Amino acid sequence: MLNTWVVMPTCLPLVLRRCHACASERFRTSGKFRVNANHKLIDAWLLALCTVCGETAKLTVLERRNVRSVQPGLLDRLHDNDPGLAAELLQDPAVRRRNRIALDWDGAWRLDTGGSDPLDRGRGLPRSSEAESLGKSDVSVRFAARIPVRPVRLVAEGCGLSRAEVERLIAEGKLVSVVRLNARLSGDFTFTLKH
Ligand SMILES: [Zn+2]
Repeated sequence: MLNTWVVMPTCLPLVLRRCHACASERFRTSGKFRVNANHKLIDAWLLALCTVCGETAKLTVLERRNVRSVQPGLLDRLHDNDPGLAAELLQDPAVRRRNRIALDWDGAWRLDTGGSDPLDRGRGLPRSSEAESLGKSDVSVRFAARIPVRPVRLVAEGCGLSRAEVERLIAEGKLVSVVRLNARLSGDFTFTLKH
């Protein structure tokens, strides 16, 4: 029995960066851009506000770029404050490096299990004979965005278990994966649950 879970972003992550005005380290972006064109050169920034004092930080998207070297469509998206563009840019490691920022995804994602229960505790539904004879479930976890999270947390949430219960399943060899279940990752993986 194969289940598919999806880690879905629900809003933009917080931007981690020190505020020069109040020393807070968290900014929230509404996805608005500022574009400044000077002759043929263009600058563009993604605007973010300090969560404590409201100070504006400008995250560089384009820096003195020749208009003709900017990929078609990007200028329109910047001018339109395209809501998907901020998400794409924040996930771009080059943008994060250039602006020396990191992201805080706490509370900005959810796990969509499609209603599946890999523990197969049943809700009066007949078990498939295959699942019953094998007594195991394979779960494929897909990331809709590169959100760093520990697999143990996803398994706990998806199966309705406590962290301690998940740790016990690992210790008993009932929860196995080729990835390290205790380390953060942000790419697709699968795990098997024996029950
Ligand atoms: Zn501040």
